[in-house]
Parts: sequence; C-alpha cells; structure tokens
Amino acid sequence: MRVTLLGTGTPTNPHRFQSAVLIESGSSVMLFDAGRGAVHQMHQAGSAIDRVNPVFITHHHIDHINDLFDVMISSAMLGRSHEMKIFGPSGTKEIVRALIEKVYAQDIRFRIEEIKEIRRLGGDFAEEPEAIALVDVHDVGSGVVFESDDCRVTAEYVRHGDFAHVPDFKWRCLGYRIEAEGKVVTISGDTVMCDGIIDLADGADLLVQCCHMPQSKVTNIAMKYLATNILPSSAQVGKIAAQAGVKRMVLTHLSATINRDKFAEILADIRQDYEGDVLLGEDLMVLKL
Ligand SMILES: [Zn+2]
Repeated sequence: MRVTLLGTGTPTNPHRFQSAVLIESGSSVMLFDAGRGAVHQMHQAGSAIDRVNPVFITHHHIDHINDLFDVMISSAMLGRSHEMKIFGPSGTKEIVRALIEKVYAQDIRFRIEEIKEIRRLGGDFAEEPEAIALVDVHDVGSGVVFESDDCRVTAEYVRHGDFAHVPDFKWRCLGYRIEAEGKVVTISGDTVMCDGIIDLADGADLLVQCCHMPQSKVTNIAMKYLATNILPSSAQVGKIAAQAGVKRMVLTHLSATINRDKFAEILADIRQDYEGDVLLGEDLMVLKL
C-alpha cells in the first residue's frame, strides 16, 4: 500500500495545501478528501488522476471538498471513462448534484458543445466530457462502505463538532479504515478523541491523524472549545494513538501554528502517552506499507 499525503494544512495555513490523501493498492487509486490543491498535488506526485476511484469524503467543511469538482472534471478530461464512486456522510449526494446541475452545469455543457463542434468540423478530440457527470454517489454512515478485490474500507462517525442542542443542524464527520495487503491505514477525518476514532484505528499500521495546534496554544476559551469539541491539540493525539494501539502516526491538518520548528514541543506532548513512531506530515510525503 502506498499512502501519499497530498495536503496537510488547514484553510488559513498559507504553507500547505488542504486535506487530501491518496492511497494506492493493487489496481486501486483511492482519494480521501479533496481539499484545495488535491488535483495540483496529484499532478506533482505523478498520480494516475484518470484512475481515481472511489473518492471518500470525511465531511463537508470547505477544506475537504473544495477540489471535489476539480477531481471529477480533471479525471474526465485526462481520460476517465468509468463511473467514479463517491462516498461521504449524509448530504454528499446533494452537494455533488448541485455541483453538476447548478454550480458547474454551464461548464459541463460548454465542454460537451465544444467537442461536438470540433468533431462536426472533422477534428479529433479523445476526451468524453459526459464522463464529468458520470459519478455514483453514496451517502454512507457507520460500517463497511466499499469492498474490492484489493481492499476493504470501513467508515465510522467521529467527533468534529457536537451540535446536539441544535436539532435542525445535521453535522456529520466520518473517519475511514482501509484494509489492504494485510495492512491497516486509518484516516482520522477531523476529530477529537471519541469512540469512533479508537475503533477505526484499532491496531492500525498507520494512523493519519489530524492535529490542529500545539497544546501550548490552548490558552483561551475559544481554543479550549476547539480542542474539546472540534479539533485536537498535540496533547490529545498521543492519547488517541496509545489507546488505539497504532504502530505509527503521521500528523496532518496542521494549522500555521505547527511547523518543523515546533515538532520537538509537539512530540514531547505526544510522548506523555505514546511511544510509537510519530511523523510530522508534509505535503507530498509518501509512506509505503
Ligand atoms: Zn473540518
């Protein structure tokens, strides 16, 4: 299994692209989230963009989906003719339908009409723009969401904002567990400590874990609220890795308050709980299992 961190930053971090992880196993090329730069970074990594399938979305914050349509259109313009499966929490279907039927409807129509015209004039054009909208989208929840000859992907709800007091606000975030080639990789999604991430990461060979800020930044009400309910600090990710018994953890979803110079401080926080391998994620980092 080959894991490429395409983007390891947050919306306001100018030094890193946003959440996207490519996992290749056998003939499968799977993308987990499609944050800003996902397509650009797949180009940089030399990935087979036309073969990406499926795409798994953890949740609907912009930094996880803002390149989703770019993945759909770029893969088609680079030769994709297969139906691309997309999995994500409740609401994913509606978002993709809006992209196709509303936001980019004119763009899709443009490409179809453009190619018709080129062909009418006797020109040649290999791409089939109809493939842009050739997607099979599934709103999924807890359980096995995808199985192929190469791998199995299981989803579980994780805790990235708890709005139980706002009943009309359905906010869901998933993490994913990928089992292939006798190995396990877990994508945390955005989450603080919760049962979901512990189940997903149980004994994993690699945990790709969001770690938003150093614990030293958790000094006021806003940051304490964030660290308790939305995104973990360096003091929590070691607890997650230790409790789940993972062999190795790579940190991602790094705000601008985390950089290479801060790694010793972050690692000291993590070492309070976890003795395994810890890596600071970098854009285009490749991990082989
Ligand atoms: Zn988020």
